[in-house]
This record gives sequence, C-alpha cells and structure tokens, in this order.
Amino acid sequence: MIDSLVRKHLRSFQPYKSARSETHQASIFLDANELSIGSPVSFGDIALNRYPDPYQLALRKKLAERLGIPSDMIFPGVGSDEIIDLLIRLFCEPATDRVMVLEPTYGVYRVASDVNAVEVKTVQLDEAFQIDLPSTLPAVTQDVKIIFCCSPNNPTGNLLRRNDILALCKQVRGIVVVDEAYIEFSEKALSLASDVPRVPNLVVLRTLSKAWGLAGIRLGYCIAHPSIVSYLLAIKSPYNLNAVTIQLASEALSNPDFFEQARSTVRSERDRVRHGLERISCVWKIYPSETNFLLIEFDDPQKVFEVLYRNGIVVRRRNEQRLSRCLRMTIGTPEENSLVLKILSEM
Ligand code: PMP
Repeated sequence: MIDSLVRKHLRSFQPYKSARSETHQASIFLDANELSIGSPVSFGDIALNRYPDPYQLALRKKLAERLGIPSDMIFPGVGSDEIIDLLIRLFCEPATDRVMVLEPTYGVYRVASDVNAVEVKTVQLDEAFQIDLPSTLPAVTQDVKIIFCCSPNNPTGNLLRRNDILALCKQVRGIVVVDEAYIEFSEKALSLASDVPRVPNLVVLRTLSKAWGLAGIRLGYCIAHPSIVSYLLAIKSPYNLNAVTIQLASEALSNPDFFEQARSTVRSERDRVRHGLERISCVWKIYPSETNFLLIEFDDPQKVFEVLYRNGIVVRRRNEQRLSRCLRMTIGTPEENSLVLKILSEM
C-alpha cells in the first residue's frame, strides 16, 4: 500500500551506499577517505575524523525504547523540518500531487511544498481552530498526497481532535502527518504515536527542539510504518545527522530529569503568565494553550510589539488576516515572564 503512494521513480531507486552502510568489524578503517591521523578539535571522546553511523542505529534504538515501539518505525532527521521536506519529496510528484495544509498553522509545510513545486491546498480550521470535517473531507481529493495536521497547533496552541485526524487518515489516498512538536508541554494530550502501528498512512513528527531544550543540535524524528522509514533512509543525504548531535541526543534521552523539570516549569509559568495577562487592559483574549507559547489578542498588537521591542523583547507577529490582532509569545524564564507582565501592565 505504501509502495503505491511513493513517487514512481523512487520505488525501484538505488540509494547511495556509503562506506559505512554495512557495519564493518575492523580495527583499521581505510575505506572512507577520512583523515586517519585525527582532528584539530575535540568533543568528548567522539572520533570527529570519522563519519557517523548513516543509519543512526543506536539513537533509533534509544528513541524506540523510550516510545515502546520498534526502531524500524523511527526515522531521525536534521530537525523535523528536514523530515517535512523528505516526506514531500518522497510522496508528492511536483506539479501533479498536492499537499493539504490546515490554516492557520506552521509555515514550513507550505514553504517546503513551494520549494518542491508541489501545490498547496489550504483549508481553514474552524473558529475554535479545530478541523472542520464538513469542509475538509470534500477537499481531500485524489491528488492530495499529504495532509499536515499540527497538534498542538502552532500558532494557535490547541490540540486537534484525535478522531478528526483519524477520519482524515481514512479519507485520504496519501498520508496524514501529525506534527507533535509541542506535545510534551500538554497535560492532557494523547499522542497519536500509538496509532501508527495500525494506521499505516499515519506519520507522527516529534522533535528535541522544544521540551527537550535542544533546538541547537537539530534533531527531530518521525514515527512511521517501517516501509516509509526505509524509503526515508534511502532518499536522505548519506550522513544527515552529525556525530555530535547523535551523541548529545542520546545523552539527553538517557537523562530525562532536565526534560521533566523543564516542562513542569513551562506549564506552571504558562498558567502564571496567563493569569497575569488576564488582568492587563490592553489584552483582549488569551487562547488556550497546550504548548510553550501563548497566542494573545490585543487591541493594538503593533503598539505592544513596539513597546516590548524597545525593551529588548521580541515576540512573533502574525501575518494571517484571522490573527492580525494577535502576537505569539513564547514562555520564557520566570524572570523574563515577570518583566513582560510588568511592561505590559505599565502600558
Ligand atoms: N513543527 C512545528 C509545529 C514547529 O513549530 C517547529 C519549529 N518552530 C518545527 C516543527 C521545527 O522543529 P525542528 O526544530 O525539529 O526542525
């Protein structure tokens, strides 16, 4: 079933075989034209002169253990952004197939489609920023190869209903990608990762850039049918993840204390900032959030943006007509949050 969804020329495609694709048990490596003498810099005990494992077996095993799924259902990438691009390249024939985006949402789905010359079909989320099935299902035509659903959604902060996402999986000829970048900040979310084994056209995206505090190392991953994972492994660049990223990600996953502490701090700060904002007169509405940011409607968002900016604080403006009165503000440190509340209450 997956094979028939993949672009024709990639079904029987011969991937590049790097020197380290077959694990060699050797003591002297003269197979990859590395500099055997060593490296001018060091990072722990990583052999920086050597290419990393192209299939990231150890890291995938670690992620798999944490998630309780087999490691052949995990594909790590250079951030989830790389995986978004690879999925479009794998499934969508330029100028023929289409991507569906449920707006307002994360901008990279559209940009990555544009880069790949894949037309985007846009459907609006409803007033509560939920999937509007009556208008969305009929728009899922035969040419739609990927539907991107972001849950919790960026920039609106809410979870999408699981049953609506599963209804899209049933309707679409192609795949549904659920981007769960922010899910670890949610107290009530049930990840769709556990649905992947029985829904082969469902792909769940995750990242270490948010709740794990590792945006700088660029590590995202997807949970997908083993056949999708093997296609992704075949089309990615040979050594997409570098050795430092692999090592640091593994270390972080082995020591989840910081992660647990950080997400509980973000959750409690999110509540504190919300309550603080509720008392400020220029704030019109604060949207519910299951993430590490708040979408806030102001009477004069441009003025708020400028006042914060003059104080050295930058928040995110929104271009969408529906969100023209909104700013999106990340939950900062407790000190940063207190400063924002003080500045806004003095406006
Ligand atoms: N998905 C969403 C919804 C995001 O908001 C972001 C980053 N802002 C990403 C994916 C990208 O994450 P990564 O750093 O893993 O590429």
